[in-house]
Amino acid sequence: MTTLLDAYSETSGQGVIDHLRQLAAPLRGMKILHVNSTRVGGGVAEILGKLVPLMQELSIDASWEVITGNDDFYQCTKAMHNALQGSRARIPRHLLDNYEQVNRDNGEQLREKLEAADFVFIHDPQPAPLLTYCPARRGKWIWRCHIDASHPYRPVWKYLKPFIADYDASIFSLPRFAKTLPHPQYIIPPSIDPLSEKNMDLTKEEVWGVYGDFDLDPERPLLLQVSRFDRFKDPLGVIQAYQLVKKFVPGQQLVLAGGTATDDPEGEVVLQEVRDAAAGDPDIHILLLPPDAHKTINALQRAADIVLQKSIKEGFGLTVTEAMWKGKPVIGGDTGGIQLQVINFNTGFRVNTPEGAALRIRYLLHQPAKMREMGNKAREFVRDNFLLTRHLREYLTLILSLHYGSEDRIELN
Ligand code: UDP
Repeated sequence: MTTLLDAYSETSGQGVIDHLRQLAAPLRGMKILHVNSTRVGGGVAEILGKLVPLMQELSIDASWEVITGNDDFYQCTKAMHNALQGSRARIPRHLLDNYEQVNRDNGEQLREKLEAADFVFIHDPQPAPLLTYCPARRGKWIWRCHIDASHPYRPVWKYLKPFIADYDASIFSLPRFAKTLPHPQYIIPPSIDPLSEKNMDLTKEEVWGVYGDFDLDPERPLLLQVSRFDRFKDPLGVIQAYQLVKKFVPGQQLVLAGGTATDDPEGEVVLQEVRDAAAGDPDIHILLLPPDAHKTINALQRAADIVLQKSIKEGFGLTVTEAMWKGKPVIGGDTGGIQLQVINFNTGFRVNTPEGAALRIRYLLHQPAKMREMGNKAREFVRDNFLLTRHLREYLTLILSLHYGSEDRIELN
């Protein structure tokens, strides 16, 4: 019988799979619990949906729980998210009280699972206080920060830090995101799943389907950004870049594909701004896709000539990895995890302004051979560095190191 892991050997190589089995063997039967705040939408949910089943396939008792909150909770955590990424977001005391109460309530609800787990991975600030409300915990707790918290708005970090300081370890996506904390810190960049609907190979017909579905012209260049409607993703900057290029190279089409994550109340406001900026241009297509439109996003990424991710702040940017895996050059904001993926002039271009993005779009549209060459390099770069198997290997290594922490030597068979 072909297992899920065997299927990965086709893209990652058999040696990689054997290594995973070897690392997981001492962890057989261990309870590993992941907790975040949304089951759909956004990169964290995307990763957990793949990582947890793979851990299970390695005979680890892995599970994933989602905390729930009221509107005030999401308003507060959105402000925290913005503040950790540097915005001066003042959060009123009553919202912080509610944030703690929601965590206390969720802690109550999840108590049995939280206390029974050998390892608990808490993702991002939303559920960070859970540890405080779980005094009888017996496992090791790890805080996994997916966002760029390198220059947070200090009052908000000062508030959050005591909740996080008590963890046994924390994980950041890039070295420069790490914070001063009284516990070991690990650097693990995220990954994509090459077998998922979002990233698997598609037939020509499946890719071509998007032209008909969204009224796009296959004969004209297609620019794409896939992102939640969020200011940090700079959709207005993308529209500006497109408008600048259009003056010199007419005929291109721009697709802004997004949806709103259930924990992002600001999305509607940004979406309206985007609609206003795009008004009157039939070649700008704003697509509101349901959270499970993975195949559609896959096809759009494959249909696109150039993929943009003009973020102003970006924890990692899975959309960048996804596009690169499909052999597309990416024009990305010169920030956060995009710097780890888009190697300037090699796998794509990094830009700081709409003008910069416009310049690179124009260059690539005039150099189809360069576009292909960059796209091929991008795909290989992802194969080497950002597939799920590498991600899982680093999680397993971290768990082993925490599990056997005080021993001089870890013997793996
Ligand atoms: N995504 C999606 N539908 C959308 C927008 C985004 O499925 O409408 C996916 C996207 O393909 C990627 C993830 O959500 O897998 C976004 O992750 P990323 O790291 O780029 O950004 P985040 O939303 O976590 O800030």
